[in-house]
Amino acid sequence: MLDKFKNKAVAVISSRHVAGPDLKDALLIRDWAETRDVGTVISPWIGSLDSPRQVLQLYSDAISAVQPNHLGSHVAIKLSALGYDYGLFEELLGIARSKKVKLQIDSLEHESAAKTHALIEKASATYRNIGCTLPSRWLRSASDAERAAELRIHARVVKGQWHDPTSPKIDPRANFLTIVSKLAKRGADVSIGTHDYPLADKALEILAESDARFELAQFFSLPLNGFDLSRKYKCPYLIYIAYRSPYMPYNWHFFLSRPSMMAWLIRDFTIPRPRPWNSHGREPFGYVPLNIAKDVHIKS
Ligand SMILES: Cc1cc2nc3c(=O)[nH]c(=O)nc-3n(C[C@H](O)[C@H](O)[C@H](O)COP(=O)(O)OP(=O)(O)OC[C@H]3O[C@@H](n4cnc5c(N)ncnc54)[C@H](O)[C@@H]3O)c2cc1C
Repeated sequence: MLDKFKNKAVAVISSRHVAGPDLKDALLIRDWAETRDVGTVISPWIGSLDSPRQVLQLYSDAISAVQPNHLGSHVAIKLSALGYDYGLFEELLGIARSKKVKLQIDSLEHESAAKTHALIEKASATYRNIGCTLPSRWLRSASDAERAAELRIHARVVKGQWHDPTSPKIDPRANFLTIVSKLAKRGADVSIGTHDYPLADKALEILAESDARFELAQFFSLPLNGFDLSRKYKCPYLIYIAYRSPYMPYNWHFFLSRPSMMAWLIRDFTIPRPRPWNSHGREPFGYVPLNIAKDVHIKS
């Protein structure tokens, strides 16, 4: 009975964190974002019933929907959904290359990190316009950051939804800044993926003092509090739009150590989030109708 309620609650909450079942649902939000000079990261989230071949098609459709080099927009994928099959990944890289679209690889559980990074490294020999994701909850991410800089691929820094079992006590905020500093020193290509405003502020400040190329990215269904930061640091601002299979963008297993997460869960279960892209939606915090693209300085 309790399990049934828990599953139902997780299903309701998860459904609020995807744009809808189809690419067109994500594109509605993309269109809203682009009229505000905000780039998008389009990501089909994959269900357990989709075969790797079907997934390739879904990822390919997402790539076709992205206008290359427009506001930094790109596609995010999960290698697990391709069954870690390098042949399929290579086909996808070919499609991304032909359309000149960046492929960002999301991170999953710590156990998947070694094979994910091995495939990204192999792919980087043929296509440099890809990115890895570095969770600051993981000890290994500092050295993965150095490697990403050496390979000259993009690096997205997030806190991460999964613990590092080898280092469960790591401080994700402090390590976030350690990773960002390493990338800044190497003049890397960096995305800051967090809704933690003071942390994003500090990370962007470090990057702004370096030769790194950087952007701020936030998840479309969590508080969009990055507009003013993107103006302060004159960097691109992107929103990550998930669609298709519902999933939660934060790890509710952490709720015992984070009491505020219980409030988020209850809120997500009872009150639908504001949807500023709907015709009567209110603009998010910090949004001012300025042409951010005219102001941003993108280091090449
Ligand atoms: C662009 C992007 C890409 C990501 N990619 C990955 C990935 O590939 N792999 C991965 O494991 N994780 C990924 N994540 C998720 C990330 O790891 C965190 O789980 C998530 O962003 C929450 O952590 P936070 O850094 O935003 O900080 P938090 O401390 O969790 O949140 C910061 C603040 O945001 C607000 N907030 C956050 N969530 C909620 C909520 N549900 N309801 C109400 N307020 C809330 C609160 O005010 C909170 O204090 C990504 C996140 C982003 C933004």
